[in-house]
Amino acid sequence: MFSVPLSSGSRSNSDRQLLLRQSLAKTRRQAVRGPAYMFNARSNSLSVTEERFLDAAEYGNIPVVRKMLEELPELNVNCVDYMGQNALQLAVANEHLEVTELLLKKDNLARIGDALLLAISKGYIRIVEAILSHRAFADTRRLTASPSQAEMHDDFFAYDEDGTRFSHDVTPIILASHCHEYEIVHILLGKGARIERPHDYFCKCNTCTYHQRHDSFSHSRSRINAYKGLASPAYLSLSSEDPVLTALELSNELAVLANIEKEFKNDYKKLSMQCKDFVVGLLDLCRNTEEVEAILNGDVDSTQSPEEPGRPSLIRLKLAIKYELKKFVAHPNCQQQLLSIWYENLSGLRQQTTAIKFLVVLGVAVGLPVLAMVYWIAPCSKLGKIMRGPFLKFVAHAASFTIFLGLLVMNAADRFDGTKLLPNMTTHDHPGQLFRMKTTPFTWMEILIISWVIGQLSRCTA
Ligand SMILES: [Zn+2]
Repeated sequence: MFSVPLSSGSRSNSDRQLLLRQSLAKTRRQAVRGPAYMFNARSNSLSVTEERFLDAAEYGNIPVVRKMLEELPELNVNCVDYMGQNALQLAVANEHLEVTELLLKKDNLARIGDALLLAISKGYIRIVEAILSHRAFADTRRLTASPSQAEMHDDFFAYDEDGTRFSHDVTPIILASHCHEYEIVHILLGKGARIERPHDYFCKCNTCTYHQRHDSFSHSRSRINAYKGLASPAYLSLSSEDPVLTALELSNELAVLANIEKEFKNDYKKLSMQCKDFVVGLLDLCRNTEEVEAILNGDVDSTQSPEEPGRPSLIRLKLAIKYELKKFVAHPNCQQQLLSIWYENLSGLRQQTTAIKFLVVLGVAVGLPVLAMVYWIAPCSKLGKIMRGPFLKFVAHAASFTIFLGLLVMNAADRFDGTKLLPNMTTHDHPGQLFRMKTTPFTWMEILIISWVIGQLSRCTA
């Protein structure tokens, strides 16, 4: 007859955290109202019926709870135990779905928001669903507003008379993201809840100025909490159309923030790292070329490179290089894809030995003038297409530059011969010549150098 807890995973960690938060709330209460309050104010005057009711809720005694709710209309469903918890909070904390459902049918039930946050923090999906179907959540602002915004009006998110047990800026979806509860994040997103991006650190709008003056610590914490939610894999993968791009940009934003908000440097760095690990994790999961390409190239509209149609644009990869995401660039799946693009149209060469590759390089270097002419005349021929591949392009550029340097050195070689004149000798080409001026026609080497430079110039202007 007793309801059985739905899951029994290790949640000692979250329990301990909740206990610590309760102690903190007590300490704060004591600091605010003085120690005498602890013993006087909480004069717990529960009637026997109320005590029985709370016990039944805590231990999941469904028949007793149902009977008491039906037969005792004067029963105060919001009565609290010695720890200040009401029946709903006790039932949720002990994962009693049926009792929670019975209690939610009552009209004047308080602290539904706190029960929701509690269920989220413990990962009780069925209970979260039950609470969310309560009519209090028909107003979607309940889900989008944080307790600090909502508590002005009622004790919806309150844990006890002193407010919430979670941070005041934590909305249900932020909490679900922190706890990596994919299913709950999904449910909340479906109900229109979103995590609002914090304003710029230097923002001077009225809200930011107010929060900064009112409580700068909680302002900073609220920013971190929001970013923690945004950077959570659960939120990234479920809320974003393009999780890779969002994660890359967020990791960069967080890295910048780490340098601005020095006091929270480690937190921001950790979150930035988390975003990067998320992207690398996605690359890890790829099963075929198509999936790797999708990650490296981004959305379908811009998968083609604007400069070279037919070749992937690798926008995401370029972004990863810009944001110094070394793990992503050096990832085997990414490198494999890059290698296959590198040997485009020359796939056979990839498997050849270094000696053969060297011979190909040498051949291209020697035959470069001929190859260049062929490409110029028929760029779309088979040879032209091979020449357009990144590998041969690189070899051709390197060879062309090396030849240019060789020409320069050879042209300057006569300077190394030294002079044939003896120390006390002067030479005159013409007897009446005053200055040492001599013009000769261009040598063939100079003509080649000039034509190379003109070629480079026309390439730059084209
Ligand atoms: Zn602002």
